[in-house]
Amino acid sequence: GKEIVRLPTWLKTSIPRGTNYNKIKEDLRGLNLHTVCEEARCPNIGECWGGSDKSAATATIMLMGDTCTRGCRFCSVKTSRRPPPLDPHEPENTAEALSRWGLGYVVLTSVDRDDIVDGGARHFAETIRRIKQKAPNILVEALTGDFLGNTESVELVAQSGLDVYAHNVETVEELTPFVRDRRATFRQSLKVLEKAKESKEGLITKTSIMLGLGETEPQVMDALKELRAVNVDVVTFGQYMRPTKRHMKVAEYITPEAFERWRVRALDMGFMYVASGPLVRSSYKAGEAFIENVLK
Ligand code: SF4
Ligand code: SF4
Repeated sequence: GKEIVRLPTWLKTSIPRGTNYNKIKEDLRGLNLHTVCEEARCPNIGECWGGSDKSAATATIMLMGDTCTRGCRFCSVKTSRRPPPLDPHEPENTAEALSRWGLGYVVLTSVDRDDIVDGGARHFAETIRRIKQKAPNILVEALTGDFLGNTESVELVAQSGLDVYAHNVETVEELTPFVRDRRATFRQSLKVLEKAKESKEGLITKTSIMLGLGETEPQVMDALKELRAVNVDVVTFGQYMRPTKRHMKVAEYITPEAFERWRVRALDMGFMYVASGPLVRSSYKAGEAFIENVLK
């Protein structure tokens, strides 16, 4: 029979309408850039793109294709062992398009490319360097995979001129084997974040945790302690949402009040800033947050 899924009221959102949002959408059309914001129909697009100030607007762009070599149980990206080769023009084209777009903050992310020796680190680094040459005012965050623990790859990206290095642990250590691809471990992800922080003075590091997968509060506390121990600066918490019925079930809908408690707790533990809420994604209003917390 048909399953009736009732979402808590706080997860219902409306279609964004702001004028800035429409302007950005129009700009995008001529640029041949693919944003995760549009393709994943992210509910935050109005807030990320539509702030009153375009210099704080944030968008997320996916590099290295749409096909991942891994298969995490929460993720709807397509999977293949041998995705098509990288587009050698992508770094230049991305930089060119972003320089014409005039956006304040970009998050560059990618699928995991375990089929490439360096996991795509050089491609990532090259894209960042070109963006910084063509549009020096744009703030750049890279949200990378774990590069199978290859610290040289992490270093290459961390030293490419970016402002924020993000890598998501996604969940607590105990649930990692059930949530993420088997090649990913919590320890390996901690190492990525630690290496990124050590690779460049002043680099901000960031991670994201999904709640509602069945984790316990002490497990989340432990994860936060481990993250602070490797000097992670920023953490975000969001609700896990099941993309299709073939994916993991939601164990629990966390209330907005509980998200607020996690925000306060994480700040008390020394994180520089924290975004926490049912619809928060790792890139949620990242530009605004960076400007308010790091530049001021
Ligand atoms: Fe785009 Fe991320 Fe904001 Fe969603 S949260 S609109 S994906 S920048
Ligand atoms: Fe999705 Fe990233 Fe996992 Fe690939 S590695 S399946 S893109 S979450």
